[in-house]
Amino acid sequence: MTTVYYSNAKESSMRFALLILLVLSVRLPVCAQSPADEVKAVQDDARVKAAFEFIDKDRDAILREWIAITEINAPSKQEKERARYIESLLRKHKLDIRYDEVGNLIATRKGTGGGPVAVFDAHMDTVFKPGLKIKATVKDGRVYAPGVGDDTRNIEALLATIRALDAAKITTKGDIVFLFTVDEEEEMTGAEHYTKQNKGKVDYYVALDGGYEGFTYAGIGINWYRHHIIGPGGHTRSRTPPYSATLPMARAISRIYELKVPNNPSSNLNIGMLGGSEVVNAKANDAWFSVDLRSTSNEVIADLEKQIAAILDEEARKAGMTVKTDVLSKSPAAVLPGNRESKLVHVAEAVHRAMGFNPPIGNAGSNNSSAALLQGITSISTGAGPCADAHALTENCEIEPLYKGIKKILLLELALVGLAQ
Ligand SMILES: [Zn+2]
Repeated sequence: MTTVYYSNAKESSMRFALLILLVLSVRLPVCAQSPADEVKAVQDDARVKAAFEFIDKDRDAILREWIAITEINAPSKQEKERARYIESLLRKHKLDIRYDEVGNLIATRKGTGGGPVAVFDAHMDTVFKPGLKIKATVKDGRVYAPGVGDDTRNIEALLATIRALDAAKITTKGDIVFLFTVDEEEEMTGAEHYTKQNKGKVDYYVALDGGYEGFTYAGIGINWYRHHIIGPGGHTRSRTPPYSATLPMARAISRIYELKVPNNPSSNLNIGMLGGSEVVNAKANDAWFSVDLRSTSNEVIADLEKQIAAILDEEARKAGMTVKTDVLSKSPAAVLPGNRESKLVHVAEAVHRAMGFNPPIGNAGSNNSSAALLQGITSISTGAGPCADAHALTENCEIEPLYKGIKKILLLELALVGLAQ
């Protein structure tokens, strides 16, 4: 007889409690899964293995396409031609494709639902002047062309992952947003616009720019100034003092170099340019120098800024002169509290280790990731391959590691948004 089941209310409630316990204990290991376990589960999935195999088979097409995009120069704010070409490649896939008001090209690979939204960004613009004819050459396992690395290698990495995801018929829970941005090299207005508009809708923002073996989770602040000391000037043979404004300038520079610039938080100070009179036989009435001040801490920047201003005022006053400061550009350190311990950083670290890297993890990035962090979006920056001579006509990249870098990016995409069953 099985009526025992109904015979005792106390017993049945105990059974119910036991059942709950059983369910909880079965679920516990899932909740406690470490990022390394999660990444391993994705990496071991047969579909992901198929995607990796596809990347290996797709090598020649990847190299050809990488070169074709590189050969379309795209100076900042003149990215249209390159964007149209990338768009034509994206159109071969099932993606939601659009441009926003500033010219960012956005392609969303929709998930099945219930997963996070991960944005993967690569910038389209280059630092090279309009009209530059670019012809890539391949030699000794490297490809040489201005812009081939910064940031075309990462544009190609994104396109290659889209092809591999489709070839392996991979569906994801969350959406992957492929974001091809404008104007990273000059003012970062592309990423700034996108992150401001979408900050409530983005869970993770990965800027692919530079990098290969490691990644950064915060942006360094970079401030540029031109300080002038303004004096009366005069002929070399005019009454002295007053001196040339170069004298208080030189004294100020030597005192500024005595300032304590901390290594931790990572900070730098450089005076790279200076000027004075236009001719030899005149005292400068305007002696100037540039300051490039960087730190991962905005407090350090503010403090050094204050000390530099005080030195300038003192030296100018001693010489009976005045100070004028032009701020050439200011971009604050992008530090998001807790980002180092965020899910994104832990998953990114696990992905790098799973791919055989021992990743350096830094906090001094200087790219679109900062724009996201400043909007409060958890973000990192990394890249798909090792390159050299960025921003120079001799720029070049190693070819072979890019294929591994593409697999790394694909694994990161999937580890973040989750595989759908
Ligand atoms: Zn770049």
